[in-house]
Amino acid sequence: MPVFVQLAAFLPVTGFALYLFGCVVASRIRYIRLGRPSDLPAAPAVRWRRLAAAMLGHRTLLKDVRSGLMHLVMFYGFVILQFGAVDLIGKGLAPGWHLPLGAAYPAFRLLQDLAVFLVLLATGYAGYRRYVEKLPRLKRGWKAGVVLMFIAGLMLSVLLAQGAEQIWRGESPSWGQPFSSLVSGLFAGAGKAAAGGFFYLFWWVHLLVLLSFLVYVPQSKHAHLLFAPVNIFLRKIGAPGKLAPIDFADGSAESYGVGKIEDFMRSQLIDLYACVECGRCTSVCPASATGKLLSPMHLITNLRDHLTAKGAAVTSRSPWMPAFAFAGSGGEEESRRELAGDVVTGTELWACTTCRNCEEACPVGNEHVDKIVGLRRYLVLTEGRLPAEAGRMLVNLERQGNPWGLGRSDRTAWLDGLKPPLRAPLVQEGEPFEYLFHVGSMGSYDNRAQRVAVAMIRLMNHAGISFAVFGVEEGNSGDTARRIGNEYLYQQLAMENVERFVRHGVRKIVTIDPHAYHTFKNEYRDFGLPDNVEVYHHTELLARWLKEGRIKPDKLARERVVYHDPCYLGRHNGVYAAPREILRSIPGVELVEMERHGADSMCCGAGGGLMWMEEKEGSRINAARTEQALSVKPTVIGTACPYCLTMLGDGTKAMEADERVKTMDVAEILAGAVAERV
Ligand code: SF4
Ligand code: SF4
Repeated sequence: MPVFVQLAAFLPVTGFALYLFGCVVASRIRYIRLGRPSDLPAAPAVRWRRLAAAMLGHRTLLKDVRSGLMHLVMFYGFVILQFGAVDLIGKGLAPGWHLPLGAAYPAFRLLQDLAVFLVLLATGYAGYRRYVEKLPRLKRGWKAGVVLMFIAGLMLSVLLAQGAEQIWRGESPSWGQPFSSLVSGLFAGAGKAAAGGFFYLFWWVHLLVLLSFLVYVPQSKHAHLLFAPVNIFLRKIGAPGKLAPIDFADGSAESYGVGKIEDFMRSQLIDLYACVECGRCTSVCPASATGKLLSPMHLITNLRDHLTAKGAAVTSRSPWMPAFAFAGSGGEEESRRELAGDVVTGTELWACTTCRNCEEACPVGNEHVDKIVGLRRYLVLTEGRLPAEAGRMLVNLERQGNPWGLGRSDRTAWLDGLKPPLRAPLVQEGEPFEYLFHVGSMGSYDNRAQRVAVAMIRLMNHAGISFAVFGVEEGNSGDTARRIGNEYLYQQLAMENVERFVRHGVRKIVTIDPHAYHTFKNEYRDFGLPDNVEVYHHTELLARWLKEGRIKPDKLARERVVYHDPCYLGRHNGVYAAPREILRSIPGVELVEMERHGADSMCCGAGGGLMWMEEKEGSRINAARTEQALSVKPTVIGTACPYCLTMLGDGTKAMEADERVKTMDVAEILAGAVAERV
């Protein structure tokens, strides 16, 4: 075909497709820019490393090995095939031309041929997993099928064009292009001129599929190809699960929290277009698994669809190109829906335990929890809408400094039960101490958690640690208030606590409560907790004191212990090893693991304020988690959080297993092994 004819058709078609692509991408960027400006990202070196690990190594995707490998093949296949597309398009425009790779060109052709074949295989496998194996986390609508057809179309057209080209150019089948050579047999009897015609036919098919795919990508879930790298790059660094404070001193604020899509930060809105609808988040969500309405994937996709509809209405830029092919209906109606209440319902919002399992599973770095808390903040602070039992708990916190509304003076009642020689001195002016033991509201008022506090005191006495407790002066950490959305109360409690820590010259804090640990360690710095104040979870110190020989467990325990990782200790703070080291150090303890442990541990159901709310939908999360623990036939379910202890203890009672299986904090198990020495 004459070159000028090819060019005369190629240039307008390609130019038009690039124009449509540009319009779609520009519309999404405009919608994202409706959000509040995000700070310029700090620590670029860390971010580039993280991006490289996520993209080149597929770190998160490979947690599901089969899907991860399939995606890895597609990713690297497409990287190679980008060059292949340039090579093929160039050959169609300038016969005789090819990529200027010199002596390496034959190797490139072989690589390209292999990549085409492997991507075809991976595409077939993706279709199998979605439509035959029917993997529960994957949607099975036509849109996902369209993408697979696009990819298959691209690969087949390359093979057919290259096969026809071999006959056209009079090349013999060779191992240098094994799959194209196989396909060339289809054109063997056609003669050179006809094979040349076939080459151009499949060349055009390839180009048109490629350009259609290019235009389709940003208006489908495959927008993740563009937005996921940006999202991973911009993702929070530092402690995951750290929430951003509200600036109550800002007099211009008309409302607090996220009441409309524009109240999200731009970096949070990028999450929405980065979502690939893989369902990994929903498949690990304890709320979804127990029949609640909440599905973290649908939370993200519903927010995305709302942003697209509202963005189109506000900017008057259509999100769909060409509109006749892609536009859905109801865009205007969608843009008018209330964000907290309609787009995301209260039932969904109040079902989240803030466990972060969804975030840990998400391959594109989406952060669900800060969005949920942002919406809760709006409901609580601006609208005063929250479950009645959560409201009562917050009033108790405000008035008495504990969730039950028990007397402030009763905070030390548990200390009266300490039998000499055990000692837990109170913080007093001029009396030095190394560690402040923050007992927490659970440890102070809850009978079961009090036994953990006593075990910790026993171990600190045993190890000869200098420590003190605040007693009635101690304040609630405010973590629950913050996760429920009452940021105002949280900040009040946080500032009171920080003032007390500073006034008493506290340098090291230890607590048995992972929620207090998380907020002290990662969030209190925003409210003035000095950087040199060290914060520890009790398991971190116990593991250290065991290593230093300050604690020597010498009593046989003879227990088969399954350890449940508390979300705020594990996923929020990466403390997985210390509790296990403690258990392994106890003579006679056999440590076993549930299928879901470590970073994939399932929540007990108490986080995010749900400890104080009724679970009205579906089955109980604590029952599901207890069942998982009991499946490995332990004699003890071990944990390191007073909330988990309550939930799992209730779970064993509900399953009538409490007679044969104890639920204990690791400090209690350890204290039992050193009891005779204290
Ligand atoms: S934080 Fe936990 S409960 Fe909330 S949506 Fe994510 S996985 Fe579900
Ligand atoms: S939010 Fe992440 S894990 Fe969930 S569906 Fe989207 S990409 Fe997958």
